Amino acid sequence: MKYISTRGDKSERSFCEILLEGLAPDGGLYLPTDYPRIDAITLNAWRGLKYHELAFEILSLFIDDIPPADLRALVTKTYTPEVFGSVEITPLKPLEPGLYLQALSNGPTLAFKDMAMQLLGNLFEYELKRRDQTLNILGATSGDTGSAAEYAMRGKRGVKVFMLSPKGRMSPFQQAQMFSLQDANIHNIAVEGVFDDCQDIVKAVSNDLAFKRAHRIGTVNSINWARLLAQVVYYFAGYFQATESNAQQVSFAVPSGNFGNICAGHVARMMGLPIRQLVLATNENNVLDEFFCTGTYRVRGSAETHETSSPSMDISKASNFERFVFDLLGRDGTRTRQLFKTEVEERGAFSISAAEFARLKDYGFVSGTSTHTDRLATIRNTHERFNVIVDTHTADGLKVARQHMQPGVPMIVLETALPAKFAETIVEALGIQPPRPTGMEHIENLPKRFVVMPISVSEVKAYVQAHA
Ligand SMILES: *Cc1c(COP(=O)(O)O)cnc(C)c1O
Repeated sequence: MKYISTRGDKSERSFCEILLEGLAPDGGLYLPTDYPRIDAITLNAWRGLKYHELAFEILSLFIDDIPPADLRALVTKTYTPEVFGSVEITPLKPLEPGLYLQALSNGPTLAFKDMAMQLLGNLFEYELKRRDQTLNILGATSGDTGSAAEYAMRGKRGVKVFMLSPKGRMSPFQQAQMFSLQDANIHNIAVEGVFDDCQDIVKAVSNDLAFKRAHRIGTVNSINWARLLAQVVYYFAGYFQATESNAQQVSFAVPSGNFGNICAGHVARMMGLPIRQLVLATNENNVLDEFFCTGTYRVRGSAETHETSSPSMDISKASNFERFVFDLLGRDGTRTRQLFKTEVEERGAFSISAAEFARLKDYGFVSGTSTHTDRLATIRNTHERFNVIVDTHTADGLKVARQHMQPGVPMIVLETALPAKFAETIVEALGIQPPRPTGMEHIENLPKRFVVMPISVSEVKAYVQAHA
């Protein structure tokens, strides 16, 4: 299996070549040259597999430059009940007949990003060792991504993490999760500014190519293909739990921000998994809902980006969306490049043609928006009826899922975080504190390890230089 860019550069790269990369050299995103198709016999054979066995089968279709025995060992040590809390790894929780939550958030940081990031940590360590190289990951976070990255990379040989976060602006729980890590290879940098300031510093450092090369700077952002690939697995796992035979279809509802999670669902569907609908849920930052309703993709400025109670979906543009558009346009790299490079960068928007818009339904996508009021209502209603507390992002998914239920087609809502991470809104909705997993009751009291820095590219560079 080889990988090409969405922007027309047809040079083919192998999995391990793109594993440690971000964008393709032409500014596009990497995708496999084609999607492997899963026939009925294979799908049947996969039905009885344990999660790590299923992960191995799926990953080995996309990875041919890691020896199978090594790949098997990597996924086996990643997807364990010890790390993810259950034998099923991503168990389905029935709410009512035909409606399920799929638990993706029982990893170390209580959000679904652990599903991919934990594998990425092991893949990075493996590949760096094989190349006899080291890597310094530089990132900016306002919450889930940074903590998932740190918990995936802690203690890994050859990898150091430098994570910038806006000082005093993360929830106390999220801050405690990150800052309590005592591992020598994890560096928390609290910047005296907002999230955009952190992101600007990361961009400035990454644009200094000489510095980047000299200090082997890398990233783990959501455009990384390996992250997306790891997420394909749980769509299969969810499907098998909700059905008894391959004649059945299911739908998935996905709380979406950067379009990474739901893009994995798109890949699973392209592989032949019987998915009827991919239900995309946004919060008030509804760039993507607007696209699926109108055919116009219009990115937002920071002034137009709302701070919401489902903050991990507060995006102004969706960094993985280009992957789907490339497929929608019949894999026309020149046109994808024109839409994303010329039109989005110059005018901030593009519209697809009526014929292209009509093709959206062939890909199963439908969408909807959920607001703060909807979240509160969904959290209350779910608690009253099922005695289940859902987090704010999952509530967005559940709200939009209910608008698209079809008779006879199970609907699986992906649970992207646990409510303990977003306690403030749970208290607002229910008047009670969400439960915390054992061992995390007093996480705020643990000793913290972090440095404070002004908004300064040169100070961040000096710090990285001193500790890389
Ligand atoms: C990252 C995140 C999302 C959005 O996922 P994308 O892959 O960016 O679409 C949704 N919910 C939670 C809790 C997240 O952390």
